[in-house]
Amino acid sequence: MIQTNRLDRGFYKYQREFEDKALEVLRSGWYILGSEVSSFEESFAAYTGAGYCVGVASGLDALILAFRALGIGKGDEVIVQGNTYIASVMGITINGATPVFVEPDEYYNMDPERIEEKITERTKALLVVHLYGQASDMGRILKICREHSLKLVEDCAQSHGSCFEGKMTGTFGDIGCFSFYPSKNIGAFGDAGAIVTDDEGIAKEIRILRNYGSEVRYHNKTVGMNSRLDELQAGLLRVRLSHAAELNDEKKAIAKRYDKELDNPCIILPKVRKGCDHIYHQYVIRVKERERFMNYLKENGVGTLIHYPIPPHLSEAYAYLGMKRGSLEITERYADEVLSIPMYNGMYSEEQDKVIEVINEYKGPVQDN
Ligand SMILES: *Cc1c(COP(=O)(O)O)cnc(C)c1O
Repeated sequence: MIQTNRLDRGFYKYQREFEDKALEVLRSGWYILGSEVSSFEESFAAYTGAGYCVGVASGLDALILAFRALGIGKGDEVIVQGNTYIASVMGITINGATPVFVEPDEYYNMDPERIEEKITERTKALLVVHLYGQASDMGRILKICREHSLKLVEDCAQSHGSCFEGKMTGTFGDIGCFSFYPSKNIGAFGDAGAIVTDDEGIAKEIRILRNYGSEVRYHNKTVGMNSRLDELQAGLLRVRLSHAAELNDEKKAIAKRYDKELDNPCIILPKVRKGCDHIYHQYVIRVKERERFMNYLKENGVGTLIHYPIPPHLSEAYAYLGMKRGSLEITERYADEVLSIPMYNGMYSEEQDKVIEVINEYKGPVQDN
């Protein structure tokens, strides 16, 4: 069975470096907020081109802390795309703010054409998700934020190193939020996350909030969280980050082969908007009668996953928003049709041969829009 992802391959690629670093940290006797974390923060800020980076415990925490640092909470509205991982929305609602959903464009990112109709006097911010690894149309989105004086937060959990017109995602808005969950393009070996920003005050605030609201030990200014990045993960992330370009290039090459060799009228391949990089966190196709297609692939030894089968506005967690099926037609159609096919660092070309062959031999309803 060819799985959708193989995290072990990503480990064995740099096994020696990961093992050496892990032993070094274990033997150091220092495990929380030390030199590995500060070195990683420095390197990751430099990698993205942001002024500051603060490591936190997860991507969700990065989002929660971002809205908190911006003072967004009860009574405020945040515009976000309907088709995202539910963590994006939780980052908003855990702070007491209300998510307002916008439909995606054909690139699966927030459709800039549909943002302005959602702006009210309560709208405080936009949360842009660079979904599946493709940068959003930041030119138009930035213009809207400026015209309406909105804060901008970027969810870069799937877009490490992906650029819009040469500038890295995460550096357009007030705060860029990253997850280093093991399956992300830059992945840890456990939970980890970070924020990047050019604003020194925001960086300082999040540094305090991640550590019980204290800057000086046992002097607590505010009710913070425990959301610290640990030394072991930070050290292992430094290894991964040192190979980031190579890791993204490998995924891009796999995607290029799919683009060229997948040939079946039943599926729609991912499109890339001009000026927007795609680092293929996932390679997402669309197909009608998805269940049947998935079963066919499974019977032929090809695994798939759905990112994501239930859009946040229809999940039980957000039943209180009172949104019914039909309220976001494009988002819901995508949720019914999207499918992620095998895509991972260390994928063998014979594995990709097989995926391509099996998909090309499938016969089903034609997918034309
Ligand atoms: C993975 C992910 C998150 C959450 O990251 P965690 O580290 O799992 O908390 C948030 N948003 C998006 C788009 C993601 O893919």
